[in-house]
Amino acid sequence: MGQIRSVNPATGAILQTYDEHSPKQAAKIIDRAYNAFLQWKRSSFDERSKCLRKMALVLRERSLDLSWLMVSEMGKPIKEARAEIEKCAACCVYYADNGPSFLDDELIITEARSSYASFQPLGVVLAVMPWNFPFWQLFRFLAPALLAGNTAVLKHASNVPGCALAIEEVVRSSGFPEDVFHTLLLPSSGVEALLEHRYIKAVTLTGSTNAGSKIAAKAGSLIKKAVLELGGSDPYIILEDADLEAAAEICAASRLINSGQSCIAAKRFIVVGTAAEPFAELLREKMAARKLGDPSLEETDIGPQARKDLRDALHEQVTASIAKGARVVLGGEFDPASEGAYYPATILTGVSKGMPAYDEELFGPVAAVISVPDEAAAIARANDSVYGLGSAVFSKDVGRAEFIARNLIEAGSAFVNASVRSDPRLPFGGVKSSGYGRELSSFGIREFVNIKTVYVT
Ligand code: NAP
Repeated sequence: MGQIRSVNPATGAILQTYDEHSPKQAAKIIDRAYNAFLQWKRSSFDERSKCLRKMALVLRERSLDLSWLMVSEMGKPIKEARAEIEKCAACCVYYADNGPSFLDDELIITEARSSYASFQPLGVVLAVMPWNFPFWQLFRFLAPALLAGNTAVLKHASNVPGCALAIEEVVRSSGFPEDVFHTLLLPSSGVEALLEHRYIKAVTLTGSTNAGSKIAAKAGSLIKKAVLELGGSDPYIILEDADLEAAAEICAASRLINSGQSCIAAKRFIVVGTAAEPFAELLREKMAARKLGDPSLEETDIGPQARKDLRDALHEQVTASIAKGARVVLGGEFDPASEGAYYPATILTGVSKGMPAYDEELFGPVAAVISVPDEAAAIARANDSVYGLGSAVFSKDVGRAEFIARNLIEAGSAFVNASVRSDPRLPFGGVKSSGYGRELSSFGIREFVNIKTVYVT
């Protein structure tokens, strides 16, 4: 039987070793989740909402312990870890309050006595999740999926097995019937076999475009529904008339959230005309002011990267961009002898097509500044990406910025004078290689349902 090891990225110390589930054990767990589904789908919305509210309480009661798990397994700064647990709790309450009305029958007038669309659960849904928000990524899928009457199994990223098992324990303590949710400890090579299980009816994968493409191909071959939340390289357009001070503050915060490891972090800063130099200087000031260090300390803004190999891959993207002409105005170097996977806040200017900082996702605290002569060039550069997750436009002319955001940017979301965020009230997802399907809001809860037509004469 294989094993999974968790490692503290701040120190390099091995935290714990876990036995993986064998394929046979995993299949049995899915059978049990299916049996649980047969009961759970018959439960009332009141019953499901009650469990979600209890889950919010459990999350809040255990917030400290759960936060420490993230600090130790993936290096999240403690203050961000606490906020993540609170966000999960709020998401449970949101769906307890609003989920039932999102799934109300939708009456359709026809010649029938009664005709309508009803939203029925699908069955057992497989969730394949990444390490960067080990709780939030899962809860934003799980809360609506359970409220809709589905059951679920989780294959979490291999560097956060402690978080994965803690989530199972949270669900177990929240009054849900047994087996509505289970964590499977498996390597990624075991995922396709899970999808083949007859009781897995759908899959949601949050992670890299590479993993998404493989899982989507497999799900397609099996005719199983898939939702994909993949990578992003969000463009933030700074128009010449923007409030540069405010924009730089928002951009620095968005670039550095989760130590730079967020799918919706600001990644490419596309700055028009004369705004380019002052913006880059303001961004340098703001990013340099963020404190890099021990994630367990309250004052830390940027912790280590989640794994050393990820830190090294990021540094390769930086050095390859420099070799092609990008200039470093902040950071760009780290201590290779350090036990921790630290990488400093870094800014590259003069970034252009053909450099990794332009063409690829930078999943760490590295800002790519791209200067353009005018608005049309800014929009063209923003769209010149395989990704289409989030985007933002900054200008004092809010109407103009909104026009660009709404109509001209190829992305799943477009924010004006604000950073992209995930919020239970707003649909979340991407276009192009950032994936398909939506999470959160009324759209998210309708992803894993059978929109069943009922026609009564
Ligand atoms: P990743 O390597 O793709 O891993 C994500 C999950 O997929 C993990 O559970 C991983 O398991 C599994 N996996 C990897 N390769 C697989 C394969 N071939 N078949 C089946 N499963 C596979 O991504 P990551 O490095 O953890 O996360 C970073 C990426 O996720 C970034 O691109 C980021 O932008 C994206 N992301 C997107 C969103 C969004 O909502 N759009 C949110 C967060 C992150 P193992 O750990 O065992 O390999």
